[in-house]
Amino acid sequence: MNTRSNRMQIFSDNLSDLNIMVLSWKEKNEVVGFIPTMGNLHEGHLSLIRKIKEFGATKTIVSIYVNPKQFGPGEDYAKYPRTLDGDIKLLEKVNVDCVFCPSDKEIYPPNVESQVMINKLDLMDELCGKYRPGHFDGVLLVVNRLLSIIQPNIAIFGQKDYQQYVLIKNMVRQLIIPTEILMAPIIRENDGLAMSSRNSYLNSNQRSKAIHLYKSLISARKKIRENKIDCKSILRTEIERLNKIGLSVDYLEIRTSDDLSSVKEYKKKNDEYVLLGAVKLGKTRLIDNIIL
Ligand code: AMP
Repeated sequence: MNTRSNRMQIFSDNLSDLNIMVLSWKEKNEVVGFIPTMGNLHEGHLSLIRKIKEFGATKTIVSIYVNPKQFGPGEDYAKYPRTLDGDIKLLEKVNVDCVFCPSDKEIYPPNVESQVMINKLDLMDELCGKYRPGHFDGVLLVVNRLLSIIQPNIAIFGQKDYQQYVLIKNMVRQLIIPTEILMAPIIRENDGLAMSSRNSYLNSNQRSKAIHLYKSLISARKKIRENKIDCKSILRTEIERLNKIGLSVDYLEIRTSDDLSSVKEYKKKNDEYVLLGAVKLGKTRLIDNIIL
C-alpha cells in the first residue's frame, strides 16, 4: 500500500515503489535521512528528525515497526504501545517526507537469513545484552534489513540506546553499508527522566521512583569528577541506594564512550567515558546514560 497524506508518502508493502522514490531523490542530489523507530512517538523521536535535518538530510524517512526479533520470551512485545494513526499525524505535522510502516512479511519474508553475518563483538552479550539475550541480534537484523530496503545516505539513532548505536556502527563498518550512522542526544522529561515509550507502563508510584536512575547517574558523575573516592565504591553506593528505593539494578557501569569497552581504571582527561545504567521497576525496564 502506498498512500499519500498531504505531502507525506506512506508505504507499508510496496517496497519497489519505495525504492523508486528514494532513487529519484538521490538522482536529484537529495540527502536521504532515515530514522528507525518502533512508534508510539514522543519528543525524543521528534528530536531525531530535527537533528538529522541539521546533519544535512533534505528528505526524511521514518520507519515504524515493532520488531518481534528483538524481544525475548516474557518481554513486552505483545503489549508494546502501538499508536500508528496518531504517529502518522504527528509525523505529518513535522514535515517528514515518508513513513515506512511494514508488516512482518516485508521485513522477514520466508527464507531470509535470520542472523547478520558479522564478527560478533563481546559487547553484544554485555550490559543490556547480558540481561536481554539475543536482543541485539534482533536489533542488528532489523536495522540491516531496513537499511537494505531504504538505502539512506544517513541514519540517526538516540544516545538513549548507546549500546545499540555502537553495535550498529560496528555492523555498518563490517558490512561496508554506505550509510553514515549518527547519534542524537537524550531528550528528557522536565524532572530529568529519559523519555521512553515504556514510561507509559509506570504507575504514579513507579513514575516517582523512576527519576532516581538519572539522579544516581548525576550524583555518581559529580562524585567521580570531584575524585572523592574510587569509582567502584561510588557506583556500589548508588546501586545500593537504587535497590533500596525499589529499582532493581541490572547494571551501573563506566565504559569508554567510543566503543563501550570495559574500563579497568578510570583516568580523568585521558579518554571520554560514559556512565550507563539499567534498572527494573516492577516489570518495566528502564535504561539511561550520561557522558562523564
Ligand atoms: P524506539 O522507538 O524506542 O526503538 O526508538 C527509536 C529511536 O529513538 C532510537 O534511536 C532511540 O535511541 C531514540 N530515542 C528513544 N528515546 C529517546 C530519547 N528520550 N531521546 C532521544 N532519542 C531517543
